[in-house]
Amino acid sequence: MSALDTAAQVRAGQRCALDVVEESLAAIESRNADLNAVLLVTADAARAAAASIDRRVAAGEPVGPLAGVPLVVKDNTCTRGLPTTCGSRILNGWRPPYDATVVRRLADAGAVIVGKANMDEFAMGSSTENSAFGPTRHPIDPDRVPGGSSGGSAVAVATGMVPVALGSDTGGSIRQPASFCGVVGVKPTYGRVSRLGLVAYASSLDQIGPMATNVADAAAVLEAIAGHDPGDSTSIPEPCPPIGAHLGDGVDGVRVGVVAELMGDGIDPAVAARVLAAAEVLAAAGADVVEVAIPALRSALSAYYIIAPAEASSNLSRFDGVRFGLRVPASTTPEMYERTRSEGFGAEVKRRIMLGTYALSAGYYDAYYATAQKVRTLVLDGFAAAYRDAHVLLSPVAPTTAFRLGENTEDPLTMYLNDVCTIPTNLAGHPAMSVPFGHAEGLPVGVQVLAPALAEIDMFRTAAVLEAGGAE
Ligand code: GLN
Repeated sequence: MSALDTAAQVRAGQRCALDVVEESLAAIESRNADLNAVLLVTADAARAAAASIDRRVAAGEPVGPLAGVPLVVKDNTCTRGLPTTCGSRILNGWRPPYDATVVRRLADAGAVIVGKANMDEFAMGSSTENSAFGPTRHPIDPDRVPGGSSGGSAVAVATGMVPVALGSDTGGSIRQPASFCGVVGVKPTYGRVSRLGLVAYASSLDQIGPMATNVADAAAVLEAIAGHDPGDSTSIPEPCPPIGAHLGDGVDGVRVGVVAELMGDGIDPAVAARVLAAAEVLAAAGADVVEVAIPALRSALSAYYIIAPAEASSNLSRFDGVRFGLRVPASTTPEMYERTRSEGFGAEVKRRIMLGTYALSAGYYDAYYATAQKVRTLVLDGFAAAYRDAHVLLSPVAPTTAFRLGENTEDPLTMYLNDVCTIPTNLAGHPAMSVPFGHAEGLPVGVQVLAPALAEIDMFRTAAVLEAGGAE
């Protein structure tokens, strides 16, 4: 059952929120040992929250658009008094003293957090294999990855543990696991959703967003968490528009651009074929499909793998054994820093800290970081030109379907290439989403719908048409 239907029944008193939450907890109990999607189950707090919603329904009080809807949040999202690990050993024992804004807003909307989802350490990765707590497995084939870094959230939704979840997306971490697992995943416009209480990876790129089994539920969760937050200086002042109200608008007269640079080299032909099939569905619904070229996208991946590690090297300097979590004692303070960081961080996080520190160092700053920033501007200009010809763009989400566990772990470059289709929108700050659109070789494939900044309505109405026409 969809999250919206569940909430409607809870509000109408036809179903108890407590029963809904018990079902979700039972599903986690039966599937999580094999899948490792959820790191922490918050059963007691969830039961208490659900019981309070049921009491309010009985008393005729308002309970919110997501009343009684169980969900998991990625474990880089602060939950007051509850472990928040970021998939890392370095935060061992840390309990944030406050809730992320999204957590507060979900509670206000009546949603009930039942757990914290597994993830690549500090959201660095594309497979959830970089979690210090073991990999999450693909829901259809346990020898494959679910994608990442929000792999736990994707699997929790795909297997029915919860109808909706939150992930975070710095370079594709919501959309790529959504594509691999056959669920909807949305990266909102940068600033649409508050980052207060999201542990920072690359602050100029990070954005929280929903994952769901269907487009309408994703829209409802986005509306619940979006909107201005004075606690986040990058938060957009305008309120979030009513996205759900426009899902039936169709695409008659909408110009859809298929991104040429993301359809050729390196993209599995079976995946590209799904994008072309999606374009046909949109054309049949009255859209005007054109091909657009954005040459700057060829350099986007390289720019991202300078900018994101550079920001990460700065953001992660706070994990020093003094202020948060793990401390490995030593006789001097510098030694304590070194031992804590050596033992606390995994290999990929260390690689990024070193890459970023190098790119920002005085002798190389201009050659790497400054150049990458210029590329970022070219990517923005390229999108601006494309959006003069098209209202929304279409592309693959990832070059392939879900790959095998261990297949890319020895070769970081191959792993990074997975992000080639998703990274450009993060550099631009635009919204983009993955919509399930059939299968290739028996595995789910998502199609990516991209839109200009703040154009979530156009993105979602296009996604709704794809969802309706998505069966093979
Ligand atoms: N896979 C990309 C990376 O490793 C993106 C991760 C993300 O979006 N958090 O950086």
